[in-house]
Amino acid sequence: MPATTNNKQRVLTHLFTTIKKRYDPPEPAALPVLEQIIYAICREGTTRELADRAYRNLQERFFDWNEVRVSSIREVEEAIADLPHAEARAQKLIALLQEVFETTFSFDLELLHKKGLKQAAKHISKYEAVKGNDYVVAWVMQRALAGHAIPLDLPTLRVLRRLGLLENEQEDLEALRGSIEHLIPKARGPLFNEIISFLANEYCWEDEPNCSACALCSDCPHGREASSREAVGAERSGRPKPR
Ligand code: SF4
Repeated sequence: MPATTNNKQRVLTHLFTTIKKRYDPPEPAALPVLEQIIYAICREGTTRELADRAYRNLQERFFDWNEVRVSSIREVEEAIADLPHAEARAQKLIALLQEVFETTFSFDLELLHKKGLKQAAKHISKYEAVKGNDYVVAWVMQRALAGHAIPLDLPTLRVLRRLGLLENEQEDLEALRGSIEHLIPKARGPLFNEIISFLANEYCWEDEPNCSACALCSDCPHGREASSREAVGAERSGRPKPR
């Protein structure tokens, strides 16, 4: 049965209070628009730690964004090698920088601040390198353009569905984003994303999530189900029940 709004709010309150005690991420760095697009390409589907490292490597190993643009995919891939799908990301980064350079003769997209959110989002999503990538657009809206957007990548969707914060049968990403944005105050958006990403990486793995160690287990429909299955299994095998 779908969770009610009250249930969802209860889970969210618990999420912010309990997980924040275990993981209190530092304030995200303020970056210009283009840099946030680059960072989002690194960040999607992985952890903050790996994305930070990849982004730092890009800054340290290349003189500037132009040098990244004219480098080979292999060279860029090496700088971001710790990220999953590093080659595909390197391709995207070079393609994006090429498109931005060809259209602006610079590496500066700060003019988007003057466009209003919808137009700015439209502008970003027109770049072939990130076309149709709702995560990147939402990330930039949240982090650089002061908009209310919650970027949803696969690990985030997995956790939110298991927690009952998103309905399983819903597929349309924009509609899903709308429903979660409705529940999270704008000021908490960045922290929410960091916390969910932490949960996905530490406990809520794709296969065999570590629900018994997860502080949200009692609030989480998937976690409760997993615990009761474990309890039944333990009873049948004569092992003590998991707590
Ligand atoms: S209880 Fe399990 S399924 Fe639920 S959020 Fe935690 S790890 Fe994920």
